[in-house]
Amino acid sequence: MNWLSNFIRPKINSIVGQKEVPDNLWQKCPSCEGMLFNRDLTENLNVCTHCGHHLKFAVKDRLASLFDEGKYVTVRVPDVPTDPLKFRDKKKYADRLKDAQTKTGEKDAIIVAEGTIGGNAAVIAAFNFDFMGGSMGAAVGEGLVRAAETAVNKNAALIAIPASGGARMQEGILSLIQMPRTTIAVQFVKDAGLPYIVLLTDPTTGGVSASFAMLGDVHIAEPGAMIGFAGKRVIEETIREQLPAGFQTAEYLKDHGMVDMVVARKDLAATIGRVLGLLMKRNTSTGKQKPLPSDKAGSNGSSPQPSGRGVFTAPGFGSTGATINKAKDVTPPAPANDKPVQDKRNVRKATTR
Ligand SMILES: [Zn+2]
Repeated sequence: MNWLSNFIRPKINSIVGQKEVPDNLWQKCPSCEGMLFNRDLTENLNVCTHCGHHLKFAVKDRLASLFDEGKYVTVRVPDVPTDPLKFRDKKKYADRLKDAQTKTGEKDAIIVAEGTIGGNAAVIAAFNFDFMGGSMGAAVGEGLVRAAETAVNKNAALIAIPASGGARMQEGILSLIQMPRTTIAVQFVKDAGLPYIVLLTDPTTGGVSASFAMLGDVHIAEPGAMIGFAGKRVIEETIREQLPAGFQTAEYLKDHGMVDMVVARKDLAATIGRVLGLLMKRNTSTGKQKPLPSDKAGSNGSSPQPSGRGVFTAPGFGSTGATINKAKDVTPPAPANDKPVQDKRNVRKATTR
């Protein structure tokens, strides 16, 4: 039968001409099964035009969609030892790595980039799910550490965008070590008084959700994203109970307090820009004239202002701001009618979120 495919088909093809219609023009929405024209899908940031289902989004497109004018600079992630355990399952880990590198054109499952979002300096550490399921090994851990360092050095916010199946089993304990390591890295950012935001995308599971991904000052999730530790089936088999509908979805987690907001992909850049604007305003004001509402003004009325401060600022940040202000406050007795106004404005900001 080989002559049919090897001889006849090429002959026919050469007469008829190669296929004029590339077969990758359309794809099916995994949620509503509607047919999607690829060009429309790209224009719509890979969100189904029929049902709004958020399909997987290439990491570079995501970065371009979030940074101002799509402009960003990638930060080099230090090299880590390749396959330190010389691990082999059905295939050598070294070969798996090579395959993934060829497929994605990236060194590992994380990209670190810096730029501005809504005019605020930001460093993003984004996972590439196409690279071995976005699994977290030493290179990914290194990427997060580098992202945190860059954020602190540049006085920028850190934004983590996980899309991961969890720890990379081929690296054994070395992948599990990345959990405390990334936790310390984000604490470094918080200690510097800089915001740390997590944008949870589909899926965020395993060791990733059990470490840095659940430690954000603000958790934003994409609609329908699967977020959890162990899979639904594993939990059901363990506890021998049926889990509620929508369990481990972004919306379910928002209703139960694990996620602050569920935001459609098209609104993410604006939302993150707005949140950063709120969180970083004080940071810029510490060195400048714009006075912070002093502790005195905060305790003046029985306003919810102190709690607002707690939500928005890391402990180190709030305290430095207050002490600087206190020192300044000693000499000039500020006009009495100025402070309450400022205070009110601050309260409004704190509550409209
Ligand atoms: Zn759809």
